[in-house]
Amino acid sequence: MDYLDQLNPAQRAAVEHTEGPCMVIAGAGSGKTRVLTYRIAHLINKGVDPFNILSLTFTNKAAREMKERISKVIGGTEARNIWMGTFHSIFARILRVEAEKLNYPSNFSIYDSADSKSLLKSIVKEMALDDKLYKVGFVQSRISKAKNNLISPKAYRENAEIMGDDEMSGRTKIVEIYYEYNLRLFKSGAMDFDDLLYKTNVLLRDFPEVLHKYQHKFKYLLVDEYQDTNFSQYLIVKKLAALNENLCVVGDDAQSIYGFRGANIQNILNFKNDYPDYKLFKLEQNYRSTKTIVAAANSVIGKNRDQIKKKVWTDNVDGDIIRVSRSLSDNEEGLFVANDIFTDRNNNQLSNKSFAILYRTNSQSRAMEEALRKINIPYRIYGGQSFYQRKEIKDLLAYYRLTANPKDEESLKRVINYPARGIGKTTLEKITIAAAENQSSLWEVISYGLNTLQVNSGTKQKLADFVTMIRSFGAQLQSLDAFSMAEHIAKSTGLLRELYADKTPEGLTRFENIQELLNGIKEFSESNLPEFNGEKPHLTDFLVDVALLTDADQNDDDDDKVSLMTIHASKGLEFPHVYIVGMEENLFPSQLSLSDRSELEEERRLFYVALTRAEKKTTLTYALSRYRYGTLNHSEPSRFIEEIDPQFIEAPEKLETPFERDSGFGATPWKGMGSSGDSRNFQRKEKYERPASPAPTVPPNLKRVSQVPNISTANATAAGTIVAGSQVVHAKFGKGKVLNVEGESPNEKATVFFPSVGQKQLLLKFAKLTPV
Ligand code: ATP
Ligand code: MG
Repeated sequence: MDYLDQLNPAQRAAVEHTEGPCMVIAGAGSGKTRVLTYRIAHLINKGVDPFNILSLTFTNKAAREMKERISKVIGGTEARNIWMGTFHSIFARILRVEAEKLNYPSNFSIYDSADSKSLLKSIVKEMALDDKLYKVGFVQSRISKAKNNLISPKAYRENAEIMGDDEMSGRTKIVEIYYEYNLRLFKSGAMDFDDLLYKTNVLLRDFPEVLHKYQHKFKYLLVDEYQDTNFSQYLIVKKLAALNENLCVVGDDAQSIYGFRGANIQNILNFKNDYPDYKLFKLEQNYRSTKTIVAAANSVIGKNRDQIKKKVWTDNVDGDIIRVSRSLSDNEEGLFVANDIFTDRNNNQLSNKSFAILYRTNSQSRAMEEALRKINIPYRIYGGQSFYQRKEIKDLLAYYRLTANPKDEESLKRVINYPARGIGKTTLEKITIAAAENQSSLWEVISYGLNTLQVNSGTKQKLADFVTMIRSFGAQLQSLDAFSMAEHIAKSTGLLRELYADKTPEGLTRFENIQELLNGIKEFSESNLPEFNGEKPHLTDFLVDVALLTDADQNDDDDDKVSLMTIHASKGLEFPHVYIVGMEENLFPSQLSLSDRSELEEERRLFYVALTRAEKKTTLTYALSRYRYGTLNHSEPSRFIEEIDPQFIEAPEKLETPFERDSGFGATPWKGMGSSGDSRNFQRKEKYERPASPAPTVPPNLKRVSQVPNISTANATAAGTIVAGSQVVHAKFGKGKVLNVEGESPNEKATVFFPSVGQKQLLLKFAKLTPV
């Protein structure tokens, strides 16, 4: 069958429109990712060289799956040559080639979030700042936001006041930390995650010949999940696409869920300004979910004011009604979900991997895991502590990184005395001070400046031995293949021996983890990837983007396991049966979002994403009490439950108070029952029959909460004084600069740049903006 026949007319039109800018905006499950996949297949089929195609995906796993699909469609092995991956991994690869232009070694290290935090912690300490005022997480997110908005330390200083770092906040030193942090990264030959995009922008801005080279190389650009790109990513795409303008972006404004990290939905709205003759495609048919799920999701997202109106419909069956389960506690909630999966799986011969459990925060996985373990249901957690974040793995990787790039400060600090070799804290402090005095890296101090260091001769010898060892590894880097090198380092540093000697259960696990890493490297060594032209890859090749690997990127789709992940991580995925757990006020929507309409809308979009992951059946659960931050809290059901059109859900019976019931409520009613069967504890409503009056919009058991939190409208009067260029203060985001005001009274909208959160669009009559 012709592959174009596997598309509906709207999808097909988007696939066949190969030249010129185009945008596909469509609701969840309507085939946006499918359009990108088939579009690439179509390009290659038309004779476009896969090396000339750049496709940016949300995860590397998504890229892998897309390549597999393309191979199936067009046959052969051409698909492997497409440049496809996340922004970070693709541009890390390009930066390796171009690093020297930016005065970086091509083996530069990539600092993951934990490395960045560790560096920031040292800097705050060295600068003798109050670490309560300059909390590492806060400083990190400030700097990250600045980088994602391409604000250099210099620009940051010039705008220090609007950045909110004034005397009033007491945090005037962020910019100094930012300067020092960047300097230290540079001296370490390291980039953090945000630098991968920032430095790419610098590269494309300052080296026109490089820009030109990649503009010619990437004749066709495609971006999935465009709604979640930030400014830095937007600009890279814009620059690369400028020559050929063969750019196709797909996205759904209703699924923009990374605003808190600087993603900017404006990028969708700006597309028509950047490419006035672009072609817009809308897809309306959902192929993923049942009618019930599609209609329920539509009813929820309809509550958002800021959105591009879309139609989404489906030809699929009506399907099961959405169930709501109430439990007494988070542990009971876990038991309910586990038992429910157990019965459903057994009664209906389903596989474990048909089920996914989605939650708002990682910490909610604990109760779920315990319950699943109890009844032996295999599961897999995506996110949480990744394999690559385990101490023993980071230790060994630090040796590898140091071998490739001895200037890497964080790696050096990690292993200079591990396994213990008598190089103490005081010595390390002396080395750090000497490095600061000489404007050099720690490595330069111990390798060239040992004589000037005020330490005894025994310590000097130990440092010299360490340097000799790392150098000897470096000397073999190009002659040994990745696995031989990796194994040699693991053995000769004593790390393997140290872990082997530890016979505690934890020690055994750590040893096994190291074995697993080595196995992974062996597999990589023998993978025969095309970029290595038949030669065995080196350890440096393995290191290229190991810092960017996440659990989601591991390739074990063959495992039959229930998936557990945050809703954020579930973007773009689909599962037959989905449980959305922790449907409680202050958890989902999160407490922090309750006082701001745009943040509440982001939470609602998150709920929309969660609902639309399910193909057949969705179950919502909430608990009446939950341990959070070590204390037991009473919780109320989420307002989002009431926001679903009641004809699509069935909720538990009303109870006077949760504690007046006799027994076994909550998780237990379903125990041992076929999940689709008994509904004794539900009030079933007639499916698809609209209530005669609009009255019962709230399931009777649910306490009514106001739809929108109380928001002061006092600012409507201040709107007159708020114009482009003026500085304002927002109750939550702090100081900001108004970039633009549009619309007519009383609906004026202001675009404001807040250093704390990035660019925001606010309706003046609701936003608490005070001019300064
Ligand atoms: P999301 O917004 O969640 O990322 P999406 O718009 O990218 O969703 P896809 O994941 O591409 O949607 O498609 C959803 C499901 O529908 C997939 O299983 C896909 O294979 C299927 N699908 C899409 N279009 C068609 C079609 N024309 N015929 C059959 N199946 C289709
Ligand atoms: Mg998709």
